Amino acid sequence: MRYISTRGSAEPLDFEGATLAGLASDGGLYVPETWPSFTEAEIAEMAGLPYVELAVRIMALFVEGSLTVEELRDLCERAYGRFSHAAITPLVQIDQQHHVLELFHGPTLAFKDVALQLLGRLFEHFLTGTDKHLTIVGATSGDTGSAAIDAVAGRERVDIFMLHPKGRVSDVQRRQMTTVRAPNVHNLAIEGSFDDAQAMVKRMFGDEAMAATRGGRFRISAVNSINWARLMAQVVYYFAAALQLGAPHRKVAFSVPTGNFGDVFAGYVAAQMGLPIERLIVATNVNDILHRALSTGDYSTGTVTPTAAPSMDIQVSSNFERLLFDLGGRDGLSMAEQMRGFETSKAMQLSNSQREGAASLFSSARIEPDAMAMAMSWACDECGYVLDPHTAIGFEAARQTGIARGVPVVTLATAHPAKFRDAVERATGARPPLPRRVGDLFERTESYAELPGDYDAVASYVAEHATPSS
Ligand SMILES: *Cc1c(COP(=O)(O)O)cnc(C)c1O
Repeated sequence: MRYISTRGSAEPLDFEGATLAGLASDGGLYVPETWPSFTEAEIAEMAGLPYVELAVRIMALFVEGSLTVEELRDLCERAYGRFSHAAITPLVQIDQQHHVLELFHGPTLAFKDVALQLLGRLFEHFLTGTDKHLTIVGATSGDTGSAAIDAVAGRERVDIFMLHPKGRVSDVQRRQMTTVRAPNVHNLAIEGSFDDAQAMVKRMFGDEAMAATRGGRFRISAVNSINWARLMAQVVYYFAAALQLGAPHRKVAFSVPTGNFGDVFAGYVAAQMGLPIERLIVATNVNDILHRALSTGDYSTGTVTPTAAPSMDIQVSSNFERLLFDLGGRDGLSMAEQMRGFETSKAMQLSNSQREGAASLFSSARIEPDAMAMAMSWACDECGYVLDPHTAIGFEAARQTGIARGVPVVTLATAHPAKFRDAVERATGARPPLPRRVGDLFERTESYAELPGDYDAVASYVAEHATPSS
């Protein structure tokens, strides 16, 4: 499988190349040259497969040429062996129509583990036996950071620098990053918002001067969902849930608490591969750039408002570019122009084909803080089920969208409620206990550097502490 850049001028790469690169050299994102797909009969045959087997069937199409099926199976077994639930991503019924897909049974309590436990092992697999060294630079609104750090701590040939917006992640989120003591892990608390931190990371990718400091060269890579391998791993659970609810003979709708548009884009990929999806509901909080873009065609950034669902406090959704590229006829050069315009003016209008294409599969909703809290207390009182704030936004968006009664709706449960205990306690009156697997998180000592929201300060810190690659 070959991967091409959404901005049309970077060299196509194979799966290994795209995974190690993260971002394309022209600033675009890698996507498969064509969407692989299954027939209805092939999908029907996957019903009842264990999660790892299903993952192998689906991902084999994307890694072809870079990994054998046996290698892929071995990496998946090790990645999903770290999950604390035998079903990996169990599906729970909430009422007649609604279900939640629990994606939070990995080591750091959010869905990011599903992809990052695999990505950490992919990096190691591709680098072992080479003399290369990878410097991973990432920005996190909370959950990517802890999941990525858990996935690469102590691994050979990889350093990780994780930027988080200072004071804007929950205590549990911060401690899950800053209490990991491994020489290859570097936590940076940056003044500003997640979008500021993400912009610095993107700039570092194109910063030749920084990459060439200290005599060596850094190979910078990404663990954010700009890395294609993450989205690939997330396609699997759309199939897993839909198969349990009767796919391919019955359509299923999904509601996805959305930030960077990665998770819901994986649903779009599942649909391109032949999974019959009735609708993908993009659920946002008051940071609603995606809701505005999908409902009016106006993709323009506002200021970020901190909320109780911090992993969705985003006003620039990197992966939206992948969708616009696909819907706009896969024209890389015009995409590059559209994105240049956006980067200058912080605003762009979707073309007619982009708008109409999106409207045929996506719906969207913006959920206010009160509605989120009410969804949490309703689910707790009526179903004995505790939703975290992100999942509550997805669930409320699912209820508001009005999907036809015979169509099951699955809300992706992106975080464990214990990760956001204060917000859950405010809404439901009960404080969810931390699961045993997080151990003595609040007794461990933290370590992180505090840096100003200044690109040069952050870039020099990384250059000083990273290991050059040969
Ligand atoms: C990252 C995250 C999201 C947003 O996912 P995207 O792929 O960025 O759209 C939603 N909820 C939680 C809990 C997250 O960690």
